Order: sequence, then C-alpha cells, then structure tokens
Amino acid sequence: MTDLEQLVAQATAEFAGIADAAALEQAKARYLGKSGTVTELLKGLGRLAPEERKLAGATINGAKERIETALSTRREALRQAALEAQLRAEALDVTLPGRGLPTGGLHPVTRTLERIEALFRSIGFDVADGPEIEDDFHNFTALNTPENHPARSMHDTFYLENAPGLLLRTHTSPIQVRYMETHKPPIRIIAPGRVYRVDSDATHSPMFHQVEGLWIDEDVSFADLKGVFTDFLRNFFEKPELRTRFRPSFFPFTEPSAEIDMSCVFCDGNGCRVCSHTGWLEIAGSGMVHPNVLKAVGIDSEKYIGFAFGMGPDRLTMLRYGVNDLRLFFDGDLRFLSQFK
Ligand SMILES: [Zn+2]
Repeated sequence: MTDLEQLVAQATAEFAGIADAAALEQAKARYLGKSGTVTELLKGLGRLAPEERKLAGATINGAKERIETALSTRREALRQAALEAQLRAEALDVTLPGRGLPTGGLHPVTRTLERIEALFRSIGFDVADGPEIEDDFHNFTALNTPENHPARSMHDTFYLENAPGLLLRTHTSPIQVRYMETHKPPIRIIAPGRVYRVDSDATHSPMFHQVEGLWIDEDVSFADLKGVFTDFLRNFFEKPELRTRFRPSFFPFTEPSAEIDMSCVFCDGNGCRVCSHTGWLEIAGSGMVHPNVLKAVGIDSEKYIGFAFGMGPDRLTMLRYGVNDLRLFFDGDLRFLSQFK
C-alpha cells in the first residue's frame, strides 16, 4: 500500500502549495471528486475478492480521511490568511485625531443686532419685539399715516392675499406702537427685527432688518437724541472721534425730522470712494415723536415728549466689515458667511 502513502503525501504537498481558495477546491476534485483518484480506487474494490475487499477498503478510507484532513487544514489556513489581509487593509489608526464636527457661527447681521442690543441695554433701553405680519393700523395709521396719505407710497408694501388689511410690516415702528399701547411712560426701547418691501438690488433686499429706538418721558429733547445716537455710533464702530450731523427731513411720525449722517468710517471724513468723496455716510432717520402718534396710542402729548430713530443693521454690518453687496448676507453661501465665525 505504499502507493496510497505516496498519494497522501502528494495530496498534502499539493494542498500546502496552493495559496488560492478556488485552486484548492480544484485540487480537491482531482483526489476526492466523482472521478478523483481516491474515488476511482474505491470503485475498484468491487473487483476484489470479498476477503480482500474489507482490508483494502479500510486502508483506502484511511488514506481518504488523511487527504480530507490535509484539505481542511489548508482551507482553514487560507481563510485565516484572507481574514488577516482584510484586517490589515481596513486598519484604523486610533491615535489619529478625529475629524470633529464643524462648528457653526453667528450670521454677521445677527452679530450686529446683538452688538446694538448690548450697547443700548447698557444705557437702560429694553428690547421690544412684535409680529412681522401687521395690520394697517399699527403699520401706518397709528404712525400718522392715514389712508391715502402720500407717505404710504414711500413704502412698496407686500399685502397678504385673501387677508384684507394685513401686510408684511414695512418698518419696525409698529413694534413701538404696540409697546406704547401696553406700557406707560417713561418708555425707553429699541425695536429690532425683519421688515419687508418690494425692492431688490445690490443695496436693497425684499427682506431686510431695522432697529428703531424710542425714548418717551416728560423731558426728552433733541439734544438727548443727538447725544444718545452719536454715543452709540462711536461705541459701535469703536471710533471715539466719529462725528454726526443732522439734516432736516420729513417722516410722517416725527416732527421735526432729521436724517443722521456720520463721518465716513473708512476715511475719517477726508473723502473716499465709499462716501463719494463727501466725508459723510447716511446712517439713520430720526426726529421728535409726532403728537398724533402719542394720541393714537393714548399717551398725553401735552405731558410727554420723546424722540425716535431708525437705522439699518444690514448697512451697519456692511460698513463694519467692508462688504459692498447686501445680497451676500442673504444668499446663504457658507464660503462668505464662514468668514465671520
Ligand atoms: Zn470716506
């Protein structure tokens, strides 16, 4: 039976030399398959005499078992090798720093609003809020702008379909009206928020922000307005030398009314491209609150007086950061916005 010993040694050596699982299965077929060497030997048993058949069968089956053992040993070795190769390929370096979560940042206009609120809170102003969908009374009529008043055409208003009398507020003044309806003087508030007008170009957006201020008391003068607002601008732009000037103007809800200019923050008033070489930048509207506005909200206009101002925090943001297109703030482009983190 040395032939069988040789066969087992040959199969074991052949299996050991195979590094590929598919090739190993092909080699198995040559020994143990339907017409494999071992199978053929077992088929040949039928030709032997019965007394020889028993011994020869046991011997062949013993060789078959040893070949099967060699096969499964090699299979297991290949499986382990494949697993180790896969683990090496997918290795993680746990000592590498993590990628981390991207941190968000506040929108530049939000930063400006927070800065404005902090500065006015520090001198005793409250921050008031109100609805963005307003009625005609709070947006126009109470502000001394009755129906058919020409000043209404100064605002290109979004009116709500199927909701007569309702509109998107065109300024934050209705916040002040609502506050005066529910509070007694002295009143000292700023009213920040989103407002809406039919307007869109490099310096106008159909949605933009306003901050208005209001101070109502028994003895509030135009000098207080000038002091409070000039001080605010100096603190906001961190320019103690900043100057303001007040130009006569018209608003239906103030009398007298004034536009406020400030010395250009880019050239300190010497003249540059941003200020069209005038040295001045328009920054706010203001005035003493019209007695008709106080009457509309039930405040005694003989006893109380006050000032109001309104400015655009979007424009303040553009000036503070040197941005020349308002639309960049509202496009939602992270390449632009992430610069303000
Ligand atoms: Zn300038």
